[in-house]
Amino acid sequence: MQIVVDTPLDRVFDYLWTGVDIPQVGQFAQISFGRRDMVGLIVGVTSESDIAPDKLKPVTDVRTQLAPVSAQWIELCQFAADYYQRPLGEVALPSIPKNCRTTNTVALNKALTKLAILADQKEDPRSAHAAPVLNQAQENAVQKIVKSDSFSAHLLYGVTGSGKTEVYLQAASLLLQQDRHAQVLILVPEINLTPQFHDNLKKRFPALTVATLHSAMSEGERSLNWIAAHTGNARLILGTRLAILASLPHLSLIVIDEEHDPSYKQQEGLRYSARDLAIWRARQLQIPIVLGSATPSLETWQHANSGRYTKLSLPDRAVDDAVLPAIRLIDLSQDKPQEGLTPPLLLALKQRLEKGEQSLVYLNRRGYAPVIACDACGWMSSCSRCSAYLVLHKQEQKLRCHHCSLEMRIPRSCPTCGNKDIQPLGRGTQKIEEHIQHCFPAARLKRIDADSTRLKGSAQDAFGTVHRGEVDILIGTQMVAKGHDFKNLTLVGVVNPDTALFSQDYRAGERLFAQLMQVSGRAGRSAQKDGGNASEVIIQTRYPRHPLYLALKNHDYPGFARTCLDERRQAGLPPFVYQALLRAEARDLRLAIEFLTHAAEFAHQEQIIFHSPIPMSMMKVANSERAQLLIESQSRPALQLFLKAWMSYLRNTRTAVKWSLEVDPAEI
Ligand code: ADP
Ligand code: ZN
Ligand code: ZN
Repeated sequence: MQIVVDTPLDRVFDYLWTGVDIPQVGQFAQISFGRRDMVGLIVGVTSESDIAPDKLKPVTDVRTQLAPVSAQWIELCQFAADYYQRPLGEVALPSIPKNCRTTNTVALNKALTKLAILADQKEDPRSAHAAPVLNQAQENAVQKIVKSDSFSAHLLYGVTGSGKTEVYLQAASLLLQQDRHAQVLILVPEINLTPQFHDNLKKRFPALTVATLHSAMSEGERSLNWIAAHTGNARLILGTRLAILASLPHLSLIVIDEEHDPSYKQQEGLRYSARDLAIWRARQLQIPIVLGSATPSLETWQHANSGRYTKLSLPDRAVDDAVLPAIRLIDLSQDKPQEGLTPPLLLALKQRLEKGEQSLVYLNRRGYAPVIACDACGWMSSCSRCSAYLVLHKQEQKLRCHHCSLEMRIPRSCPTCGNKDIQPLGRGTQKIEEHIQHCFPAARLKRIDADSTRLKGSAQDAFGTVHRGEVDILIGTQMVAKGHDFKNLTLVGVVNPDTALFSQDYRAGERLFAQLMQVSGRAGRSAQKDGGNASEVIIQTRYPRHPLYLALKNHDYPGFARTCLDERRQAGLPPFVYQALLRAEARDLRLAIEFLTHAAEFAHQEQIIFHSPIPMSMMKVANSERAQLLIESQSRPALQLFLKAWMSYLRNTRTAVKWSLEVDPAEI
């Protein structure tokens, strides 16, 4: 028996089978590994081994109650393991819910019984909500998606409200009808978008089981949903990025909504891109995949323009009379803000309140103020463990580090010079909320950010109050920018987006444009009512003539993308070059840099460019000092070949430095 387990050792382990019925590849086996009992995945059944039979340890048990995962699923994990330079066991096993791979089978058997009961229940008698008649562009898109009976990648390009979701639903519907086993996988960028989408799916497909997969589920729920997908019982699977690694025996269509979203990139452990794996998986299975966005990632846009992906455009908003919001740039040097809000924005808020319409004030910074400072001596509230400031949280009366979670009481006076007059600098969502309430005492406000939604279910409750019209002004971070369909919202105010214009990260502009387009899309989703205001987006900026804002004002994503791609081509940046980033962290920066310098001396190859090791821009986090080494190549195969050799060399290097590799890094 050849078995892989969840360990950093990059190899397959041989075990002896002493039972009667020979197990199959794809089944889970309990074994004793080192001094522990573990569950591993059987990847090979052979009678040969380099180890003498009397030295082989036996397989203790095989989980025959669970159907084996398919060879194609193992291939997918093997691809991810090779591409991201990880052992197969560290990819395959963590993507199985814990309850399905522990040594204790009680939870597994419970989930199987529960699923059997659920599957036995009668079909839901409710009738499906009627689907709207598609417009020409939508109809064309659906036809193109379902027509192909082999691999085809489609970019569904259309602004918020152009009817992309409707295209996903109707394409799914056709495929689900054609084949009574077919499964459709839909990925969304945020956990808090799953309830709304789940509702939509249940309304349209009341007779089908929908499995949901994301990281904020209990182990019990997670295993139940995973098994429903794995057995083919669930025909619709809705999830965040981790769902791309689910076992789906009859997968027939993959949909990735908001495909440009950075959350599709896992940022720790196996740093995979769910979008890239999805493309690979669709090609492996020869099925269609749809990538939906109003602001596609530049990689995807490039593929759509070169013809590798089919571009399907939805040029208009789907609901009659719903128009794109007008975008107004307010020059902060002309209209001086008070506590962050300019007179034109305050006036616009007032008008919405009078008409009973909702507004959203968007600021991508939570807390009350990003730092407090002493005017007398220049002291600032920095974190002792990170190269970052402690953020003021006024309601909790705390200073908190957003990187290592260190908390401190707010000092009464300056810790350095004793000055009593220490002041918050800048502002976060809490301070904006306070000021808006001060300006409009009767208005009903709701703040939605990571702080206000810490408790399970509280985000959903908060969004519920907005949908039910119990909120006049919503204040929020990027949590509110995505996906939500607020029917009565006609104003979006963006408080201070300028910092991203000058970021070191070459992707910051692309991300800012997408974020602002997306938050703009929250306004004017429904038809304009008589006497109602036209929808409007107000952006307060010091740089009202910056090309990014001008493109945004003209709703000109293609123009913006063209400029960005030209710049990237000239600067030799992705998607025109392939990158990998080696990170190292240690107590002392010097050690981290030394390790990277040593790593860079490994071997020089013509097709690989090494940059110099440098401290990371957030150099210190939780008392670790961090550095990075960027390498790149014009050729993806050359980079892959090099990485493989490099990693096996580094794994055998003795070092106290903690290091990790990221292929196709999201931020550098
Ligand atoms: P997107 O996913 O691009 O943001 P949706 O698919 O959610 O857009 O559509 C926006 C709104 O328009 C929804 O309320 C949807 O029900 C409606 N809609 C979509 N397509 C049509 C259509 N063909 N006719 C009428 N209404 C439509
Ligand atoms: Zn001081
Ligand atoms: Zn810290």
